[in-house]
Amino acid sequence: MKYISTRGDQSERHFCEILLEGLAPDGGLYLPTHYPKVDAATLARWRSLGYAQLAFEILSLYIDDIPAADLKALVEKTYTKATYGTEAIVPVRRLEDGLFIQALSNGPTLAFKDMAMQLLGNLFEYQLARRGEELNILGATSGDTGSAAEYAMRGKRGVRVFMLSPQGRMSPFQQAQMFSLQDPNIHNIAIEGVFDDCQDIVKAVSNDLAFKRQHKIGTVNSINWARLLAQVVYYFAGYFQVTKTNAEQVSFAVPSGNFGNVCAGHVARMMGLPIAQLVVATNENDVLDEFFRTGRYRVRSSAETHETSSPSMDISKASNFERFVFDLLGRDGARVADLFGAALARDGGFQLTPEETARIAGFGFVSGKSTHADRLATIRSTWADHQDMIDTHTADGLKVAREHLQPGVPMIVLETALPAKFAATIEEALGRAPLRPAALEGIEALPKRFTTMPVDAARVKAYIEQHCAA
Ligand SMILES: *Cc1c(COP(=O)(O)O)cnc(C)c1O
Repeated sequence: MKYISTRGDQSERHFCEILLEGLAPDGGLYLPTHYPKVDAATLARWRSLGYAQLAFEILSLYIDDIPAADLKALVEKTYTKATYGTEAIVPVRRLEDGLFIQALSNGPTLAFKDMAMQLLGNLFEYQLARRGEELNILGATSGDTGSAAEYAMRGKRGVRVFMLSPQGRMSPFQQAQMFSLQDPNIHNIAIEGVFDDCQDIVKAVSNDLAFKRQHKIGTVNSINWARLLAQVVYYFAGYFQVTKTNAEQVSFAVPSGNFGNVCAGHVARMMGLPIAQLVVATNENDVLDEFFRTGRYRVRSSAETHETSSPSMDISKASNFERFVFDLLGRDGARVADLFGAALARDGGFQLTPEETARIAGFGFVSGKSTHADRLATIRSTWADHQDMIDTHTADGLKVAREHLQPGVPMIVLETALPAKFAATIEEALGRAPLRPAALEGIEALPKRFTTMPVDAARVKAYIEQHCAA
């Protein structure tokens, strides 16, 4: 399998060549040259596999430059009961007839990003060792992504993480998750500013190309193809848990922000997994809902980006979305380059033609959105009716899922985080503290390891320089 850019550059690359990369050189995103089709016999064979074995089978279709035995060892080391709490790794539970919740958030940071990031940590360590290289991951976080990256990279050889976060602005739980890590390769830097200040520092450091090259600075953002690929596996695993034969179809409802999660569902569907609908659920930041209803993509300004009770979906543009548009437009790289390059820069967005917009339905996509009040009501009713406590992101997915139920087609809502991460909204909805996994009781009292710094890129550079000397 080879990979090409969504913006027309046809030079083909192997998986390991793009593993540590972000954007393609022409500014596009990487996609496989084609989606391998899974026939009925293969699907039937996969039905009985454990999660790691299934992951190995799917990843093998996309990775041909890691020896099979090595890849097998990497996935077996990643998807364990010890890390995810159950043999099923992504267990599906029935909420009511035809409506299910698939738990993707039983990993170390209680959010679905662990599903991909844990594999990425092992892949990075493996590939860096093969190349005799090191990598310094620099990132900014307001919570979720940073902790998932740190838990994936902790203790990994050849990798250091420098994670900037706005001082005093994360929840005590999220701060404790990150700052209690004692691994010497994890560096928490609390910046005396807001999240945007942290992001500006990351940009400033990354724009210093000499510094970036000399210090092997990289990122782990959501456009990384390996992350998306890892997520494809749980769509298959969810399908097998809810159906008995391959003649059945299911739908998935996906709380969406940067379109990484549901894009993996799109890939699974393109491979032939019998998915009826992919339900894109957004919060008040509805750039994706608007697109799927109208064919109009309009990037929001930061002033128009709402701070909501489902903060991991508070986005102004959806960074993985270009991948779907590439497929929707028949893989016309020149057209995608124009839409996401010139048109976006000139008009802040684009409008597809009516004929193009009509094609969306053929890819199974539908959408909807929730408000804060909707999420509170959904958390309340799910608790009252089912004694099932869900977080604000999953509540968004469940609310929108109900609007798209079809007779005879089971709907699986992806649970993207546990309620323990969003205590304030759970208190507001239920008048009680969220349930918390036993292993994380008292985490706020653990010793913290972090450094505080003013909003000053030069100070951050000096710190990196000092700590990446071998
Ligand atoms: C990141 C995240 C999302 C959004 O996922 P995308 O892949 O960006 O669409 C939804 N819910 C939670 C809890 C997240 O952490």
